[in-house]
Amino acid sequence: MGLLVVGSLGLDTVITPFDRVEEALGGSATYISIAASYFSAPVYMVGVVGDDFPKEYIDLFEKYNIDLKGLQIVEGGKTFRWTGKYQYDLNIRDTLLTELNVFEKFNPVIPEELRKSRFVCLGNIDPILQMRVLDQLDSPQFVVCDTMNYWIESKKPELLELIKRVNVLIINDSEARLLAQEPNLIKAAKKIRSWGLEYLIIKKGEHGALLFSEDKVFSAPAYPLEMIFDPTGAGDTFAGGFIGYLEKTEDTSIENIKRAVVYGSTMASFSVEQFSTKALEGLSSLRIHDRFLDFMEISRFDDKE
Ligand code: AMP
Repeated sequence: MGLLVVGSLGLDTVITPFDRVEEALGGSATYISIAASYFSAPVYMVGVVGDDFPKEYIDLFEKYNIDLKGLQIVEGGKTFRWTGKYQYDLNIRDTLLTELNVFEKFNPVIPEELRKSRFVCLGNIDPILQMRVLDQLDSPQFVVCDTMNYWIESKKPELLELIKRVNVLIINDSEARLLAQEPNLIKAAKKIRSWGLEYLIIKKGEHGALLFSEDKVFSAPAYPLEMIFDPTGAGDTFAGGFIGYLEKTEDTSIENIKRAVVYGSTMASFSVEQFSTKALEGLSSLRIHDRFLDFMEISRFDDKE
């Protein structure tokens, strides 16, 4: 059946202490879809761009077998733009500009043939729009949802309504603290799950990710990279690897969800090695699997000497 992805597509300007890039391909749906395409086929992408969106990016999506029947191209409209600047500590990012443009009037329409999608990833967009997507679906089996500080600050009540309707919420550590109004991550996770959420994943940048379910916590390690070039999209790439693997295996048991967390971390570890989606392009299943095995190796230990 494939994977349904809804989210932003945009042109990103990213400034890091090492370099900068202008109007590069970005957006949550972009990263999720390319990462998921290494597992799941086809990936159906729903989003909106203006007619200034470069044709080469459309070609890129098609190259990755990403189906664009749900992509709206607004005549005379301007594509979403975002500018972010990283500090020397790449875990700290300042958003310098968010221009919603065509997103301001975006109404996600799920094509009739995709309404029975079983695996769904709601990328980071307005939670009201994420909810509108769910309203159009015919009882999906597994829904993953991402968000960010921008929506936690501006649309918290809507976000709280949304998380009752999804299986997994993926956020980073600072977003978890902001959402729960609680500095301790374990307490924050408990509080967020108590609002009616099945699984919560908290990403901790270069320090791995935590999966919270019932009263259990699973901790996935981070890959020890010597060079992190551009963390933009790492969270979305994580979500894409995570849901892509679950869709491919069609197994949502807790053991498989743990493996999916490691596949998400694996994809995110590639993503940060270059600007934009560059490092995600040209990967192979073999390279992905090799790095997944490295993840197992760095976190394995015995109980005896
Ligand atoms: P991440 O680094 O995973 O937080 O994702 C960064 C991506 O999110 C960039 O490619 C941006 O284009 C996109 N983005 C930034 N702000 C927003 C927003 N308010 N709504 C939707 N997408 C956004």
